[in-house]
Amino acid sequence: MKNVEKYECRKAQGGFAAGSVFLLRTGYEEHSLRSEKAEEERLEEAVETLIQRLSFRRERSERVAAELIDAEIMILKDEFFIGYAKTLIREEGLSAAEAVKKAGTEACEKLCESDDEMLRERSADVRGLAETLHSLLSGREVLLPETPCILVGESISPGSVLMTEPGRILGILTETGSRTSHLSILAEHYGVPYLYGLEDLTKKIGDGDFLILDGEEGIVTVNPDESAREEALRHRKAPQKKAPEKTGIKVYANIAGTKELDAVLKAGARGIGLVRSEFLFFNRPKAPTEEEQVAAYQEIVSAMEPKEAVIRLLDIGPDKHPVWLPMKDEANPAMGLRGIRVLLTNKDLLRTQLKALLRAAVAGNLKILIPMVTSLWELDETKKEIETAAAELSARGIPFRIPELGVMIETPAAVMLAPELAEKAAFFSIGTNDLTQFTLAVDRETEDTDPAYDPCHEAVFKMIALTVNAAHAAGIPVTVCGELAVIPEAAGRLIALGVDALSVPVGRI
Ligand code: PEP
Ligand code: MG
Repeated sequence: MKNVEKYECRKAQGGFAAGSVFLLRTGYEEHSLRSEKAEEERLEEAVETLIQRLSFRRERSERVAAELIDAEIMILKDEFFIGYAKTLIREEGLSAAEAVKKAGTEACEKLCESDDEMLRERSADVRGLAETLHSLLSGREVLLPETPCILVGESISPGSVLMTEPGRILGILTETGSRTSHLSILAEHYGVPYLYGLEDLTKKIGDGDFLILDGEEGIVTVNPDESAREEALRHRKAPQKKAPEKTGIKVYANIAGTKELDAVLKAGARGIGLVRSEFLFFNRPKAPTEEEQVAAYQEIVSAMEPKEAVIRLLDIGPDKHPVWLPMKDEANPAMGLRGIRVLLTNKDLLRTQLKALLRAAVAGNLKILIPMVTSLWELDETKKEIETAAAELSARGIPFRIPELGVMIETPAAVMLAPELAEKAAFFSIGTNDLTQFTLAVDRETEDTDPAYDPCHEAVFKMIALTVNAAHAAGIPVTVCGELAVIPEAAGRLIALGVDALSVPVGRI
């Protein structure tokens, strides 16, 4: 029997969980310890996982998308690619990750040289699949076990667990982290506890250990005795919800996937104030097609009709990086290519998403939100792209509607330009998570600097006041959609400042 240990941690998300640990190792060494046989098995396991994921999506896709998924599954079953990767493991002693990378590159080159156009087109699929397999095998993406688990790691990238089915993750524990990180927001969406700040975590907790996570008290119990385990499994509690204050303010929901729609409707939200559309773009070999996006947005908009659903354009950030979009390593990624900057440098990506949004807008009250705006020209350029998307749809004879366009105010530059932006935008949504980070010059993801990351800082409230005044002077409404909106003391102050609505994770409505 292992020793029972209790540790005090920092609380990011409340709730209670009990279950086995799945330890996510960071900095995975590709050349470590395994035999050829083990590498082949790892490769087969990763291929199987990817096929399962694709099949799951196939069942929910329209015909065109389903055919594309079939083509990808065929590639994964073909000797040309995976068979060759296995040969490389056996004959060149490569790890599974290195082998898929090499096999993918070579297969791609051969396909590109083909005279057959269809084969040449397949090369992009092979590249995408090779990249996804590589990220699965090199630990950048999580291969979760079949049974629900508590995810534990020194640090965990939210992109790696973004597409996980609700229910697979019971709770999260990391060594470094913060309450306003994307991982924390994700835990809140999943309705699971998240604790962080446990030093030397991997020395204290191992794969398969049993944990009780108490997100209310901030206590982790490792390998409790049998009776405590049974008790914990019987009493997995939901997060303690505070009774809503009667304020009269409009409360909207933030969501990161269509699976949350039922909960939004049950919670009686006024609408959806923020759809983080990233959920559609991650853990897949290539970007979703226009058709796939239309289906997802339509589902959201039709479920909410006649209430509004504000869908944010893809917000790629330092911790949210799809494998299919090659991006340079940046020394300071939080201040690098992200949000609308990524979209305006990848116009095809932006245009496909805009076309899908314009098409889905026919189904109901959809609005579009632009992330990480710092300059007026970004709003102007996005508007031009909307016109181009509309023209393309019209030429194809497809029905569409141009929805209202809002701006996320999450950089000090956007606050200072709020009067000018308000003249051109239909609404503002204040993203206090990033606004705090950039106003206070403190990383929202880093635990070390956490005490300095204070969303209730006077400077942040002044930024909000400036934004609200500028918006109201121009006659447009302002929502706060960052985590500040769920801090009860802050919500009162936001209302006093004149904020029109709060948008919060579904569990907090
Ligand atoms: C924010 O920055 O406050 C926000 C709502 O966006 P995200 O947390 O997705 O960056
Ligand atoms: Mg943000």
